[in-house]
Amino acid sequence: MAKTNSKQSRKEERCSFCGRSRNEVEVLFQGADGATICNDCIEVGYTSLANNNLISQKGAAKGAPKVPVGFTPDKLLKPAQIKEFLDTYIIGQDSAKRSIAVAVYNHYKRLIGTNSEQAAEVEIDKSNIILVGPTGTGKTLIARTIARLLEVPFTIVDATVLTQAGYVGEDVESILSRLYQASGYNLESTQRGIIFIDEIDKIARKGNNPSITRDVSGEGVQQALLKILEGTVVNVAPEGGRKHPEQKFVQVDTRNILFICGGAFDGIEKRIAQRLNTRAIGYGRAAGTDIDRENMLRYVQPQDIKSYGLIPELVGRLPVITHLEPLSREVLRNILTEPKNAIVRQYQHLFKMDGIELTFEDEALDYIVDKAVEFTLGARGLRSICEAVMKDLMFDAPSSDLKRFVITKQYAEQKFEASASTLTKQGE
Ligand code: ADP
Repeated sequence: MAKTNSKQSRKEERCSFCGRSRNEVEVLFQGADGATICNDCIEVGYTSLANNNLISQKGAAKGAPKVPVGFTPDKLLKPAQIKEFLDTYIIGQDSAKRSIAVAVYNHYKRLIGTNSEQAAEVEIDKSNIILVGPTGTGKTLIARTIARLLEVPFTIVDATVLTQAGYVGEDVESILSRLYQASGYNLESTQRGIIFIDEIDKIARKGNNPSITRDVSGEGVQQALLKILEGTVVNVAPEGGRKHPEQKFVQVDTRNILFICGGAFDGIEKRIAQRLNTRAIGYGRAAGTDIDRENMLRYVQPQDIKSYGLIPELVGRLPVITHLEPLSREVLRNILTEPKNAIVRQYQHLFKMDGIELTFEDEALDYIVDKAVEFTLGARGLRSICEAVMKDLMFDAPSSDLKRFVITKQYAEQKFEASASTLTKQGE
């Protein structure tokens, strides 16, 4: 299997199983006749085989699905340990990582509590999370990494495709079908999985009119989501799709499913600024003192999300609110080399498999960062720029007798310039 790298087809490259594009997955493998499969679908397949005892190699996950690591009562990972794990994959975003570590810790204490004697005494609320931050700053990555740590099923849904039941689009309940599939059709693990709802800001109520009669993809969807977030038992069609009378359903209890919502909430800074200014004046201090105007998101509060158009009940069900910082040049540079599965390490690994030692000069890495900034592509752009730089070498090197190769700034520049016409600045 080889990672796909064809320039012409990059645009259309999608996983043949889940349909997500190359940019939305970590790795896309190519099979015969243009078929592709992403890392997540491989994982789903693997889990399904494991759950059905169909994996025979020694040491492979056989039999029952695993209990989430570190989440047995006697060995609960502490928030600092959860954050430490997140640190190996995610650069910066300390505030978000800390909030999430605490939320996940509490979530699992809650799960353990449900089965213990203390359960009857205090019922702990769910710690569903909302991540506010510009696109490409690591919201999905954080959610995905948490799921990896916990070894629980994980699924990503785009809120924009959801509609109220009965309308064209996906029912909100289809989210649960996906999670069930991701669990390898294991009900018990589905019920403690994690669902990441992306672009939650796109289902905000438009305008101040609370009428929902024609608001198919806005407030109606929020109401439907609310039920699932609150905790309910839902009849779920295992294969997804529309419900029909002859279909068999599984009953999924959503009480212990953790929801992480993410959204860019474009323009929310203005609302935050307005609120802060009013308050600042109200308390008699000069408006704007001590306020970091460059990064208003750090002051985001539930009321800002409400005023953006999420219904109060839904905001109430997302008690953990945290923000992601825009990525600075320095962070982008680190993203290239530092995380455990950093882009540069991935290339080095690929070349090592062909017996080639690959190195990048510092200036070449700086150049790649410069281009990502220039094209306002953020962290997502780093990958496509690297692909542009590397694609000829990835084609030629395996059939050569190369033992070492150094990516210099000059080489990066030359290869990138040659394919720069395929990249467009965001917003163009
Ligand atoms: P978002 O969900 O906020 O739009 P993603 O999590 O999908 O953004 O980020 C896109 C890609 O950018 C990720 O797959 C990852 O490679 C990279 N990335 C973004 N932010 C970070 C970060 N803070 N640390 C490491 N990699 C990051």
